[in-house]
Amino acid sequence: MKADLHCHTHLSDGQHTLAFVIERARANLVTHLAITDHDVSQALPQPVNQQGLKLINGVEISCLWESFELHVVGLFVDPTNMRLQTLLSAQQARRRERVAQIDDKLTALGTKGLLLDLLAMPAIALTRSHVADFLVANNVCKNRQKAFKTHLNRSGKLFVAAQWCDYTEAVRAIKAAGGISVLAHPGRYAMNKSKLHRLVECFAAAGGEGLEASYPNIAPDMNQYLIQLAIERGLYLSTGSDFHDAAAHWTDVGKFPALDRTAARHGIWHHPIWEQHANTESMSILKRL
Ligand code: AMP
Ligand code: MN
Ligand code: MN
Ligand code: MN
Repeated sequence: MKADLHCHTHLSDGQHTLAFVIERARANLVTHLAITDHDVSQALPQPVNQQGLKLINGVEISCLWESFELHVVGLFVDPTNMRLQTLLSAQQARRRERVAQIDDKLTALGTKGLLLDLLAMPAIALTRSHVADFLVANNVCKNRQKAFKTHLNRSGKLFVAAQWCDYTEAVRAIKAAGGISVLAHPGRYAMNKSKLHRLVECFAAAGGEGLEASYPNIAPDMNQYLIQLAIERGLYLSTGSDFHDAAAHWTDVGKFPALDRTAARHGIWHHPIWEQHANTESMSILKRL
């Protein structure tokens, strides 16, 4: 079993279609694939046949914990759930509004057309990655990394603070939609371990049920720390590549360190909701799109 429970498509800032990501998952022998676009959840295709890959409807919600930006992944969410869709529509509107404000700043610096360009893309959730690509394409910045550093990060010329929902709202909406909330890439937040510990306590108290403990570039000590924390707190462990782009050779669908045997016993595949979906046919089973 290889469960990649964190991936993006071009509905947010992934570079590829769903069909491409599925093909890649299949080629890399992934058995379970969750599509977790930023602030977008769309129904995945129904079963084509009974062989191979299982698809899981997911989402990655940008939210705030005490004014700190976090990402909460929802797995097995029902994309037709009204409460979830209301929250996601609001997040998408905030994202468009943020791009409009960045467009105003960029126009003042002499480059026009950002919002129109982004609205013409397949993306439903407009992200800073899209803005970065626009800056590169229009010769404002040399590459994406520089675009973030000089323009889009907190101290950047085009920075606009996003007004995300509170993390408790994200967890409640995921629960209302029948899903499991997982704290995404905890080691990537700029905080020390005691703050991270407090975050995990808050997340669990709010109804969060899982931690991502395996993702690309996770430090081995962080991996062990998260496994211990999850076991102590009775949380499930999740794994995912956070795949965005096949051209970024250091990432791929299904590419992340495997959980060791002890940790795998606390894998999210033991969650009752997972088992319920595995036993009914509602988890899509696909061979080839
Ligand atoms: P947003 O959610 O609109 O703020 O966009 C954040 C997205 O930008 C993340 O999901 C990453 O995919 C990407 N990102 C954030 N920081 C960087 C960076 N320094 N370099 C490249 N991509 C980044
Ligand atoms: Mn992203
Ligand atoms: Mn994220
Ligand atoms: Mn992600």
